[in-house]
Amino acid sequence: MDQEKVQNAPSSFEVLKENSNYLRGTIEESLKDPLTGSLRPDDQLLIKFHGTYQQQDRDLDDERKHQKLEPLYSFLIRVRVPGGVTTPQQWLAMDALSDQYADSALKLTTRQAFQFHGVLKRNLKTTMKEINASLLDTIAACGDVNRNVMCSANPFESPVHGEVAEDSKRISAHLTPQTRAYHEIWLDGELIAGGEEDVEPIYGKHYLPRKFKTAMAIPPRNDTDVLSNDLGFIAIAEGGVLQGYNLTVGGGMAYTFGNNATYPRVADVVGYFPKEQILEVAEAVVVFQRDHGNRSERKNARLKYTIDRLGLDFFRAELKRTHGIELAPVRAYTFETLGDKYGWTKSEDGLWHYGVFVEGGKLIDKDGYLAKTALREIAEIHEGTFILTGNQNVVIAQVSDSQKQKVEAILKKYKIVEGSSLSMMRQNSIACAALPLCALSFAEAERYLPKLVDKIDEILEANGLLQTPISIRMTGCSNGCGRPFLAEIGLVGKAPGKYNLYLGASFTGTRLNKLYKEMLSEEEILATLTPILADYAKNKNADEHFGDFVIRKDYIKAVLEGKNFHA
Ligand code: SF4
Repeated sequence: MDQEKVQNAPSSFEVLKENSNYLRGTIEESLKDPLTGSLRPDDQLLIKFHGTYQQQDRDLDDERKHQKLEPLYSFLIRVRVPGGVTTPQQWLAMDALSDQYADSALKLTTRQAFQFHGVLKRNLKTTMKEINASLLDTIAACGDVNRNVMCSANPFESPVHGEVAEDSKRISAHLTPQTRAYHEIWLDGELIAGGEEDVEPIYGKHYLPRKFKTAMAIPPRNDTDVLSNDLGFIAIAEGGVLQGYNLTVGGGMAYTFGNNATYPRVADVVGYFPKEQILEVAEAVVVFQRDHGNRSERKNARLKYTIDRLGLDFFRAELKRTHGIELAPVRAYTFETLGDKYGWTKSEDGLWHYGVFVEGGKLIDKDGYLAKTALREIAEIHEGTFILTGNQNVVIAQVSDSQKQKVEAILKKYKIVEGSSLSMMRQNSIACAALPLCALSFAEAERYLPKLVDKIDEILEANGLLQTPISIRMTGCSNGCGRPFLAEIGLVGKAPGKYNLYLGASFTGTRLNKLYKEMLSEEEILATLTPILADYAKNKNADEHFGDFVIRKDYIKAVLEGKNFHA
């Protein structure tokens, strides 16, 4: 689609944004309507920019219909945590809110955010207010703006990690929308006086054409899946000192089943710049997408399509024209893993950090496993911080020698599973929320993947592969929230109990996988994987990852460009 056409035919969503008075719409009126648990249709779209989505419990749809009731509407709230770092006080506040207003689960997302599910409309404003009272917020956690900026999991690991984490917070602050609507609606902030206009210096009144994701990675760990983001920064250090970043652009996971004009894409690594330029570079990329992204077709509106449509030469020229930025050649770096560190590690400053495995990112007390209570008790005595990781886990960070035993005693009391004792596949597993609340899901993910991994573990054990790192990710649809197209084994829901199986991604998040078989039941998934895993165990080269092996052995073709994902 040529740029002229893109600019001339804005989608209805663009019109909605333009007429929303900087994201106000009629949200306040919708919230006050006592006759329904829902919002008006336009407000359901606008409210995403405020960090919340309307959902309905699909498990209860039939029963409610039978009782002639409207669906059970509720809201997901996503709490923005730049770099994933929170204080114990904030942890306790989120824990309490999840019990008081949500479904008791504290969900840790794949973008280092907290998420609440099941908040009723009548409790939405109070919950938002209390989140803000804890000095966290939800603005721009969703919507056509830059979202939570991810950062490699432990800023306390080294001075470089600390500096990169600070940069992630600066980018987040720089790209946060400036509209006062959020404060007016949720925090009873003062209305803008007559004649005074909101301004959005970076976004303008149309914001971005589509959602926009940013992440930072510190090699050799790629625990943020940096290449799955619209905008990414790979830290380049020399002698333990941060020098600058390699810039990455155009990553994204989602595609639409049956629409081959949509595809997942791994970002291009386009050049290097010194660290002092980070805010200018971040802004320049956002401005590029603001001005050139497709505003007529939302399915092709992400930066990845803009880059493929206009090319990297044009992108580089625009960076120079709008912000005077000239990128140097990409500096060398190597990624070795996507995963998190589990158990105790010690940083250069002498403090301890404990990585806790949280299956599916869901902290809830269930079936006698009181993980949520354990973390709460730790938060009550903890003097350091908590870090949410991009793999849905949490690090109890900055524990002193004297506190270590107390933390260990609580972990032991509640029999918290040591991540490193699990199969390496489970350690490297991710599932999105999916059913029952996600309206887009065709199949289970978070509730089902642990059971499926139990069964795959048996195959791994039979082949001596339990301690071989293999990544597996499951989502309920192809929107890609759990980054399934960067997993060595990707499972994407296509219908209830049926999944598409994707193979051939690299273990380090640098190559996409590809569709291997469609519409598989559990029995078929296991029957398909069993001989391939057995072959892998028998014939893999030393240190060869599963994703590389299935390509070498011609099970599947390597996808070297997103555009070829369907080829
Ligand atoms: Fe919902 Fe699909 Fe995202 Fe999963 S990947 S949370 S099913 S939209």
